[in-house]
Amino acid sequence: IEELLRRSEKLTTVGQLAAGVAHEIRNPLTTLRGFLQLQKEKGVLIPLHIDLMLSELDRINLIVSEFLILAKPQAVHFQEKDVRHILNDVISLLDSQAHLFGIEFEAQLSVQPARVHCEENQLKQVFINIVKNAIEAMPAGGTITVLQRIEGNSVIIVISDQGEGIPEEMLPKLGEPFFTNKETGTGLGLMVSQRIIQAHKGSMEIRSEYGCGAEITIILPVA
Ligand code: ADP
Ligand code: MG
Repeated sequence: IEELLRRSEKLTTVGQLAAGVAHEIRNPLTTLRGFLQLQKEKGVLIPLHIDLMLSELDRINLIVSEFLILAKPQAVHFQEKDVRHILNDVISLLDSQAHLFGIEFEAQLSVQPARVHCEENQLKQVFINIVKNAIEAMPAGGTITVLQRIEGNSVIIVISDQGEGIPEEMLPKLGEPFFTNKETGTGLGLMVSQRIIQAHKGSMEIRSEYGCGAEITIILPVA
């Protein structure tokens, strides 16, 4: 996943995002500085403090990695690929993580090939972002359903979960940078995904009823 994050490429100019990133990074930096100062003056850090410092560092690292996806040069390497293979790759990649939380995948993919023009790593990144959100929404386990079909000139992918869903008032905010309700979230995953799907001339829609899970639909043109 780290490697995918590193290799994904830019899809938009992100000057205004930089200010947001700086802001998001300042909080964990302040925490880190506070602990170091405390250690210098009183020498009282205990393992718990060190753990907090490590998780703040991890957070900075995650924000920077996700930001890099947007900040690198425009992708030029579109190739014809079968979405079914990309989906299967993502499921195997995240299967063991899902199992830890008692989550199973149920996949129904089209019998015929589902070829699209794409930058494979970027599409993978989108599915990883969505499936990770689904996993994070189901701490008590359940099923993540991945449906893929072909309708006319479109490949349709629907990923749904049995988590608690998204409150209605939150729906318009999804995809805004840094919008997150998770303690360790970056609020960049959906935004990055939307940009990638746009660059693939597709569309992405998030549907959810609070209490009834979430459903993300992606439509891509057939190659
Ligand atoms: P992050 O995962 O870092 O919070 P994302 O951009 O991936 O950032 O998601 C933004 C927010 O959208 C999440 O914090 C969560 O509140 C909401 N969200 C996204 N996917 C789901 C889902 N499958 N179920 C419930 N809430 C979701
Ligand atoms: Mg996410």
